[in-house]
Amino acid sequence: MSEISEKPSPQQIVKTYLDVALAQPHLKPANSEQLVANIKLGLQQHNAALIAHYYTSPEIQELAETSGGFVGDSLEMARFGKQNSASTLLVAGVKFMGETAKILSPEKRVYMPSLEATCSLDLGCPIDQFSDFCDAHPDRTVVVYANTSAAVKARADWVVTSSIALDVVDYLDSKGEKILWAPDKYLGSYVAEKTGADVLLWQGSCIVHEEFKARGIEDLKKLHPDAAVLVHPESPKPVVDLADVVGSTSQLIDATRSLPHAAFIVATDQGIFYKMQQACPGKQLFIAPTGGAGATCRSCANCPWMAMNELENLAALVARLGKAEVEQNEILVDSSLADKAMKPLGRMLDFASSRKV
Ligand code: SF4
Repeated sequence: MSEISEKPSPQQIVKTYLDVALAQPHLKPANSEQLVANIKLGLQQHNAALIAHYYTSPEIQELAETSGGFVGDSLEMARFGKQNSASTLLVAGVKFMGETAKILSPEKRVYMPSLEATCSLDLGCPIDQFSDFCDAHPDRTVVVYANTSAAVKARADWVVTSSIALDVVDYLDSKGEKILWAPDKYLGSYVAEKTGADVLLWQGSCIVHEEFKARGIEDLKKLHPDAAVLVHPESPKPVVDLADVVGSTSQLIDATRSLPHAAFIVATDQGIFYKMQQACPGKQLFIAPTGGAGATCRSCANCPWMAMNELENLAALVARLGKAEVEQNEILVDSSLADKAMKPLGRMLDFASSRKV
């Protein structure tokens, strides 16, 4: 008689969290200016730095920039948190980014406005199932994307971000190593195709990038034939195949600056428009169409977990700094797990420094 597994599948886990995230309203508060002033004052008083991801709202990114903090992709956020002199880091992003900041800077306090802000890639790669997958393929070098839990990173040989994935896998392939890749199947396929490496894929996906549709981009391109198509490699292959530039968030922002085009069709979370508009003032930006032409898409190019970083909960967090209640916002990583996760993370950072990536 076969055993019935009690454990939910990775897809069920993602759906459960997504339903909760999508049910949350996100209204711009009427007292935004006062909240911004309070947050800036509190950051100063507590020697804290705000580190925001490109996918957070324009208000949060502007606040990070104008308060002496930082806006960037996950690799840049991790580097900034480690190098900055602030004793406290407030991470506006999703949970794995807070964990990475804590692992790299264990002596610092790391807080997030909402600990519920997570990621379908992280959720879709539970450590127990992933560990079984690794155990079944002991001959492979385990390379995991940064969008994973501390426990999954601790099980890996290498951690990579989208800005460095191609370089790392190309390097490993040149040494004759076979790769076990997790969790994003689209990015993993893209890396395998580009490098020619032998890559075994975990079947995770990003619920935002998965929804971009090639046909919608082709239709938009007919209306704007001179626009360049910029695609993040977490998107499906038919979308990647239409791209003029495929790259990480930072690489796509650079493309809007360096390409001569006056317009861009962008297949990634539209939070990135805040920095793209700074990089290419006067140029036109169009978001690539998603699944349901507005009616049935789940994310509509807006990550529901990134949207959990709001002025109000950030102001509430800053008001708790120095008080016992701030514990509810603290990112903690078990020290032995952090030590294990630091090894593949350190490998990535050393590799990035040596290659100047
Ligand atoms: S946009 Fe996708 S990869 Fe990024 S945090 Fe959201 S679900 Fe995760």
